[in-house]
Amino acid sequence: MIIDLRSDTVTKPTQGMLEAMMSAEVGDDVYKEDPTVNALEERLADMFGKPKALFFPTGTMANQTALKLHTNPGDQVICDSNAHIYHYEGGGASFNSGISCKLLNGHRGMFTAEHVIEAINPPDFYHSPLTALVEVENTANRGGGSCWDFEELKKIRTVCNDHKLGYHLDGARIWNALVAKPDTAQDYGQLFDTMSVCLSKGLGCPIGSVLIGDEDIMQNALRIRKILGGGMRQVGYLAAAGLYALDHHMERLKDDHQKAKEIEKVLAGLESIKNVEPVETNIIIFELTDKKNDTSFLNTFAEKGVRLSSMGGGKLRIVTHLDYTDEMHDKFLTLLESI
Ligand SMILES: *Cc1c(COP(=O)(O)O)cnc(C)c1O
Repeated sequence: MIIDLRSDTVTKPTQGMLEAMMSAEVGDDVYKEDPTVNALEERLADMFGKPKALFFPTGTMANQTALKLHTNPGDQVICDSNAHIYHYEGGGASFNSGISCKLLNGHRGMFTAEHVIEAINPPDFYHSPLTALVEVENTANRGGGSCWDFEELKKIRTVCNDHKLGYHLDGARIWNALVAKPDTAQDYGQLFDTMSVCLSKGLGCPIGSVLIGDEDIMQNALRIRKILGGGMRQVGYLAAAGLYALDHHMERLKDDHQKAKEIEKVLAGLESIKNVEPVETNIIIFELTDKKNDTSFLNTFAEKGVRLSSMGGGKLRIVTHLDYTDEMHDKFLTLLESI
């Protein structure tokens, strides 16, 4: 038995999901004639109280499209120094949109409205790039699955209004935040201009992200998606997995969070571990007492069939998910306690 805790992207479709996919009604989505894709887009738009939603193969493409929609070449996006758009999208912000990132040193991947105000370049000072967009990530991946305080997100909205900036949410793991916190999908919809959400993380789909947003800003989204190579044909087979996951895999995210909490507790009691970041959702980030032991720590577990990942800088990561069963959990906790 391999226990794969590297990421919540390693899940495979369940039997029920496969059956939903195989029986999907499909059409050519480039003509907008795939009824299952249309149904998924409509469902997510309704869920977040927005007029438009568009299906994408990846979260990266959805985020990259959002960056393009909100900016012109030379502009700047304000984001946290741990942001996915900065670290993990292959430099796409500059490659696709010709923009730079103004990085904020937030706390656990999150910053404040004050930080944003300080980072905005005065529009009439033509020496500096024009600030066009603020981007936040919830939950914050490199922040350790941390959840934003909704009041702070509201304050940032006000700053965006005052300075005529776009406001984009990278909601790859928004589902985890929705389950962990009282704020609703509609609350998020009211705040942001655009939001990307991933179906292939905690929800367990093999593929799929959706960009959700306002009518005006989303007008050009189809064109940008086509340019990036994301216009797909009978893709309802994949959208069907998304619809199935929204029905069956949302509530159970609580189980992933519970397991992550239990792992946190065991890790915190181990001598070889210096620090475990507070666990809020399904991600656990921790540091070894002896940073140099990273590789041997990972190897020790790999030899026992447990896969964990390194975040660099001496930080290790564990992510719980749909395919991490109760049986695996018991086995992993026992292993941890024995090291
Ligand atoms: C996974 C992830 C994405 C999207 O990644 P893809 O692999 O391109 O689907 C975007 N943002 C965050 C925070 C993520 O964790």
